[in-house]
Amino acid sequence: MKAFEKNIRKVEPYVPGEQPKRQVIKLNTNENPYPPAPGVSKALMQMDVDRMRLYPDPTASDLVHTLAEYYHVQDEQVFVGVGSDDVLAMCFLTFFNSDQPILFPDITYSFYKVWAELYRIPYECPAVNDEFRIVKEDYYKANGGVIFPNPNAPTSIYENLEFIEDILQHNQDVIVIVDEAYVDFAGRSAIELIDRYENLLVVQTFSKARSMAGMRIGYAIGNATLIKYLNDAKYSFNSYTMNQTSLACGVEAVVDKAYFEEHVSKIKDTREWTKKELAKLGFSFPDSQANFIFATHEKYDAKELFEALKAADIYVRYLGGERIKNYLRITVGTKEEMETLIAFLANYNR
Ligand code: PMP
Repeated sequence: MKAFEKNIRKVEPYVPGEQPKRQVIKLNTNENPYPPAPGVSKALMQMDVDRMRLYPDPTASDLVHTLAEYYHVQDEQVFVGVGSDDVLAMCFLTFFNSDQPILFPDITYSFYKVWAELYRIPYECPAVNDEFRIVKEDYYKANGGVIFPNPNAPTSIYENLEFIEDILQHNQDVIVIVDEAYVDFAGRSAIELIDRYENLLVVQTFSKARSMAGMRIGYAIGNATLIKYLNDAKYSFNSYTMNQTSLACGVEAVVDKAYFEEHVSKIKDTREWTKKELAKLGFSFPDSQANFIFATHEKYDAKELFEALKAADIYVRYLGGERIKNYLRITVGTKEEMETLIAFLANYNR
């Protein structure tokens, strides 16, 4: 080992899902199968290339204001970043500085562990129960902060606002982050609780329900004081996280509420259809309230099935890990894509 190695921060990175160059049925990274709202392509065509000489608006004020109006909050209650990964990383850096461990479920978004390791934040992972549900009482003990997705990923399970409030009631001295990447496919958002809990931050993304994973836009909504701390950290890191194109396109995606609702509802319909078909084929899965289904089959080895699907150009996600080694996470695509998947599965191992 070279002497300088000892001063290098070594991390085991998060492993993102594959982005194949070829055209495949892509059900592996929870993207939206539909294009973004039509206003987004108009905004793109109207981009003024000459303006690219200039730095973007560091406050991202148009996008912040559009989101604030949409959620009926003040501009000071909105923070935006380069996908919710950027927002969440900034939250870990800003809010999780206790000697006590932060808490997040053992089966959850695997990036939480990576950020905790990167920033050297102590953490504990209470086990979800046998049905993969978060046990809220596990979060009632002393801790340095709490974070969980709702719906949880990859389990797809959504908990109601009473559940979230119970956790908030027992954690008033630390920051509680609810990662709502998939909430639009589920139910009510915890945003309606931010006025009552000044320690609550709700994080959302444009990557799923708004069909803009490639643009990288995420945001946090909460008490203005928390948002100020987040902005202070951002300006101490990189003032211009969001580029001009993302800012302009993001605004258009938010204002077209009708398009948004129509396509979210299409995906939910396809999800319900897919659940029925998977059940008929003997698969079992938690009752998904997200845009993906976390499925297992007692007769099939999940890793083998993953490989067989891939060989047929149907990409799903195999995450592995002790408790979920026989599960596949299947993104809900278009109805046609799901029909192809179901037809493949119906003929598998016959
Ligand atoms: N949170 C959860 C629970 C996710 O599954 C994802 C998607 N990988 C993200 C956050 C990050 O999404 P993005 O950075 O695209 O907003």
